[in-house]
Amino acid sequence: MHGQSWPAKLREAYLRNILRVKTKNARIPIPSYRRIAGLTGASAVDQRGLSDLMQVLRYLLWTMLLAQCVWAAASGPKQPAAAPHPNIVLITLDTTRADRMGFLGSDRGLTPNLDSLARQSRVFSRAYSQIPLTTPSHATILTGTYPQFHHVNYMGDLLGTALPFLPDILHHNGYRTGAFVGGLVLDPKKLAQGFERGFDTYDAGFHRRGMGGDRYQSLERRGGEAVARALAWLSKPSAKPFFLWVHLYDPHDPYDPPEPFKSRYQAQPYDGDVAYTDFVVGKLLAALRARGLFDSTLIAVMADHGEAFGEHGEKHHGIFLYDETIHVPLLIKTPGQKTNEKIAARVGLVDVAPTILQAVHLPVPVAMQGQSLLPIMNPGSGDKNSARSVYSETGYGHLSFGWSKLQSWRTGNYLYIQAPERELYDESVDSAAAHNRASESKAVADTLAAQVADFFRKTTGGASARAVLDAEQAESLHALGYMTSDSGTSNENETGADPKQRIAIANLLYDALVDMESERYEEAAPILEQVLQQEPNTPIAFLQLGRAYMSLKEYQKAVMPFMTLVKEKPDDAFARYELGCALVKTGNWEEAAPHFEAAVSQMPSSAMMHFYLALVYERTSRMDDAMKEFQSALHVNPNNFPANLLLGRMFVIQQKPTEALPYLRKAAELRPDSIDVHGFLADAFTQLGEPENAQRELTEADRLRSQGASRLGTPTDESR
Ligand SMILES: [Zn+2]
Repeated sequence: MHGQSWPAKLREAYLRNILRVKTKNARIPIPSYRRIAGLTGASAVDQRGLSDLMQVLRYLLWTMLLAQCVWAAASGPKQPAAAPHPNIVLITLDTTRADRMGFLGSDRGLTPNLDSLARQSRVFSRAYSQIPLTTPSHATILTGTYPQFHHVNYMGDLLGTALPFLPDILHHNGYRTGAFVGGLVLDPKKLAQGFERGFDTYDAGFHRRGMGGDRYQSLERRGGEAVARALAWLSKPSAKPFFLWVHLYDPHDPYDPPEPFKSRYQAQPYDGDVAYTDFVVGKLLAALRARGLFDSTLIAVMADHGEAFGEHGEKHHGIFLYDETIHVPLLIKTPGQKTNEKIAARVGLVDVAPTILQAVHLPVPVAMQGQSLLPIMNPGSGDKNSARSVYSETGYGHLSFGWSKLQSWRTGNYLYIQAPERELYDESVDSAAAHNRASESKAVADTLAAQVADFFRKTTGGASARAVLDAEQAESLHALGYMTSDSGTSNENETGADPKQRIAIANLLYDALVDMESERYEEAAPILEQVLQQEPNTPIAFLQLGRAYMSLKEYQKAVMPFMTLVKEKPDDAFARYELGCALVKTGNWEEAAPHFEAAVSQMPSSAMMHFYLALVYERTSRMDDAMKEFQSALHVNPNNFPANLLLGRMFVIQQKPTEALPYLRKAAELRPDSIDVHGFLADAFTQLGEPENAQRELTEADRLRSQGASRLGTPTDESR
């Protein structure tokens, strides 16, 4: 009922026109979501009627917006000059706990620069993340919508193009937009597909770490480098206002701050990472000051989620919804602001995008579900809004293990967690959430359970709105060792085990994934075996165990986990592909064929799948089938080097040099330093009776060999 059910033409018009509405006059009052939905608690409107009413309201609002847009465009010159749009700096601190911030009461002394910024900002002492995972949380920050609406529930989920997106809106309104992110998880070519929309510059370019490679040259970069790149971008002259997003990844594990923070915080390396990140923020702020930009710029700083250190049994983040991972720092300095204001109202990261839009005098799209915080940012207005409720959720345990999803609802004095064994904490006397009162305060728990269910129902986007990765995006994700949400556990009834009963397994799997990522396969394999012993319904563990054995060249051992994965997920093309590869490595080419065939039929748009099937056919002497599959691979991707090379070679073998030449020439164009290409070209020219051409190719092949080139040449795309 939200967004995705708008008439298609309206939505298209929105994307084309509405985003360009600039003048203050063109803004229309947009009723807050909560007010319409009666979520402040006073409404007695029948819920079904309400949802119909909302649909009509939304339709009317769009019609009005459209009409006003047309009017604004037609009478443009007569409008008063648009208010200048201030510059915006958005800083997201990864994995940063609220209780490490000096401006929120920490006495660890880690954050002098953020504390100094806070003295000129609104400080939100009770800000909460909507989901404790990096990519999904940033989707909430940048779209102003809940995870159940944007459907970026996990790393690698595609951010849909119909969603309202802060960078895109700003870009359409004349902003120069730049993103400088700290890791693979926010790289639009890897785990944050769709995030590049609306950015003039998106500085990422991360990749898998090669053998013995430096993680800061591959998977992530230091905050200092992200800031240096951002400042270089800011130095380029432009008449436009800018929107700069800097994401600082350092506090994410592994905790490994650079010197002098490493030595200074030897006993608490996480604190060292936080201190280093603060130091980097200081550099950015100093540069803004030096350029005379600081005062006039809107600066918003927040963490995407916190980090757990075993308080409720969890290490790191993602599974649970307690304060250690959900309570986050949030501060906003509006242009010209000189003084500090502490705001105790409960707010969410979902509120950030609408706040920024309103603060720079731009209309907030109706589809944004957060509320602008401007009304409660004015002095003296805080208390009356402190009754706001905040929703959070996570499906990480569900996706990885088939456990129950979790939802939390922070309201009044309470933290309520919807779980198989539900939890209720009275934060006024139990800030650590140590005493579950759900059974003794059954009536309260019942009320809050009904509220959270109601809220979820009203804020959920249609299932059909879920954006789907194309073959190339899916391959890229798979190459990184991730499974898409679709390929996670098939247990869709969401009534799996209670994560709090199984948290030790999640910690084990986490350790194994870190080992895999660091190429410690020998360490990872036994841990994965242990995970599977305790929790056999864990697709990602089967996948990683198979991959660990493949990397250890224990191919026979890899067959079993992949076989189980295929049995669990017969429709998963990548599971079929992995099993096929393991069977090939153990010499069972005939057995591998049906799995590659299944992979091709599940992912007909994947050049990679066609290519591997062709190899298997070639090896099992099914030449016609092999040639057909090579051709299918080239139909999807004409620039696939090995498919061009091998198809060309097959034609040479069949004494069809005329057919072979175009493929071999294409292969030579793609990798001129491949010895094989020139060798096969020489064969083709010989068959054509062109000895001079043949000699030229042979000479080139010899020259390359003498230079130590490899038979296939240098791979151009390291991610494959
Ligand atoms: Zn994160």
